[in-house]
Amino acid sequence: MRKIYYQYDPQRRVYRRVYPTMGKRFLSWMWRLLLSVLLGGVFFIIYWFVISTPQVEDLLVENSRLQSQYRVLSRKVDDALLVLHDIEERDDNLYRVLLEADPVSDVVRQAGYNGTNRYAELTDLTNAELVVNTSQKVDMLEKKLYMQTRSFNEVVELSREQENKLACIPAIQPVSNKDLKRTASGYGYRNDPIYHVRRFHHGMDFACDTGTPVYATGNGKVVFAKWKSGYGNLIEIDHGYGYKTRYAHLSKILVKEGQRVVRSEEIALAGSTGKSTGPHVHYEVIVGDKDVNPINYYFMDLDADQYEEMINLAENHGKVFD
Ligand SMILES: [Zn+2]
Repeated sequence: MRKIYYQYDPQRRVYRRVYPTMGKRFLSWMWRLLLSVLLGGVFFIIYWFVISTPQVEDLLVENSRLQSQYRVLSRKVDDALLVLHDIEERDDNLYRVLLEADPVSDVVRQAGYNGTNRYAELTDLTNAELVVNTSQKVDMLEKKLYMQTRSFNEVVELSREQENKLACIPAIQPVSNKDLKRTASGYGYRNDPIYHVRRFHHGMDFACDTGTPVYATGNGKVVFAKWKSGYGNLIEIDHGYGYKTRYAHLSKILVKEGQRVVRSEEIALAGSTGKSTGPHVHYEVIVGDKDVNPINYYFMDLDADQYEEMINLAENHGKVFD
C-alpha cells in the first residue's frame, strides 16, 4: 500500500495532498522491480538446489545405477583378464614348451595397446576415471584375446607338424618280435663273426628265418633298394626330419626306389645276403649323417620292462650276424 503524504498550507490553513514527482515514481518502480528479480532468483536457487523435480530425481537414480553397473562390469573384465592370463601362462609354459616353440613375448601379447589418447573424449565425464579405466581394460582384453587366438593357431599348426613327425620318426622294430626272442645283437663294439676281431657294429641284428616279413619302422620314402657290398640286398628309407633307416641282408626286396611307405608296411623278406653268417635283419637308424643306437627307437613297440630286457639281450646274450 502506497503511503499518502499531506503538507500544511499556512496561508489557506488547510492540509494539501503532496504527489510524488515522476523521478521519484520511477525510482520507486525500479526498486520494486529489482526486489522482484532478487526474490525470484533466491526462489529459483532454492528450487534448483534443494527441491528436485521428479525428472531430476529419476536421472539421479539412473545415474547411480549406471555407476554401479559400470563397477560390476569393470570387475567382470578384471576376472576375464585373469582367466586370459591363466590361458596365456598355459600356452607359454605347457603347449609351446611341448611343441618346442618360443613363448610369446609380452611386447607381442600387448601389441597395439598404448597410451590413453583415444579416451580423450571420455575425460570430461563426471566419472571419467571409472569409464576410462573400464574402456582401457576392455580394449586390453580384446587385443590380448586376438593375440592368444593367433598363438593357438600356431600351436594347432605345430601340433599337426608334430603328429606328422611322430608318424615319420622310426618307432618300431623291423620284424615282429613280441617276446624279444629274435633280438640277436646290439649296437656298439662286438666280436666280428667272420674276422674274429673287435669291430664296431653300426646297427642291431634280429635273428629270424629267411622269408620273415620286414617292416618299415616309420613313414618315409625308399631312397635305396638294391644290392650293396657287405649289406647284401639293402633298403634305405628317408623319413625326413634328418632320420633314415637301413634294412640289410634281405632275401627279397618288395619296394622300389622313390616309393612312399608307411610305418608297419611290409617292405622286404629277411635273408642272409651279403656279409652274413645266418638269416637275420641288420637294422640301422641314422640321424643326420651319423648312425645311432636303434634301441632308442622302438618306443611304440616296447614298454619300459621290455625296453630294459632288450637292452640286456642286446648287450650280453646276443650273437652278431653282421
Ligand atoms: Zn648287423
